[in-house]
Amino acid sequence: MSDGRLRAVRDRVRSFPDFPQPGVLFRDISPLLKDPVAFRTLIDLLEDHVRASFPKIDFVVGLDSRGFLIGTPLAQRLGIGFVPVRKKGKLPGATESISYSLEYGRAELEIQSDAVEAGQKVLIVDDLLATGGTMRAACELLKRLKAEVLGCLVIIELKALKGSEKLNSIPFYSLLQYD
Ligand code: AMP
Repeated sequence: MSDGRLRAVRDRVRSFPDFPQPGVLFRDISPLLKDPVAFRTLIDLLEDHVRASFPKIDFVVGLDSRGFLIGTPLAQRLGIGFVPVRKKGKLPGATESISYSLEYGRAELEIQSDAVEAGQKVLIVDDLLATGGTMRAACELLKRLKAEVLGCLVIIELKALKGSEKLNSIPFYSLLQYD
């Protein structure tokens, strides 16, 4: 993978200490989304990885909300559909939901019950993996629909939090790693 392309992406991520609460170093991808060349490079890199690692995927599943910003262009590039996993109360019709622990408190994610069929193969995408709780909950939701989760993919991994260990045997890939 080209170091120049990776650097172009990394240069467009900025950090805000103590947001949204004291002790959190927030990694902000807004500059990356704002720069069309860097954003295209990001999707190029993710597409290269997915095509090389997962020859047959039915859907990209994106996590509310920044996972939508990455997952939808990636799905278009791959020529496949996109499925949203949303925060509680946003999706109409029958849904599956899961409650999970955050660093502080709890959260709930939902997917439409008819979003995927049993046996369909999905790749789950988000902007960032911290503790891994959100990604693990999304994997569990997809498993309840009997989908096959081929992998989980993020732009940024906060290595020190060891979130990828929560994903057990599901292949995980991050483009950029931070301590
Ligand atoms: P976690 O469940 O702890 O892995 O948190 C991952 C989710 O929270 C992702 O959807 C991220 O968008 C968001 N998140 C957690 N920590 C950060 C951070 N330091 N900077 C930006 N987003 C974060």
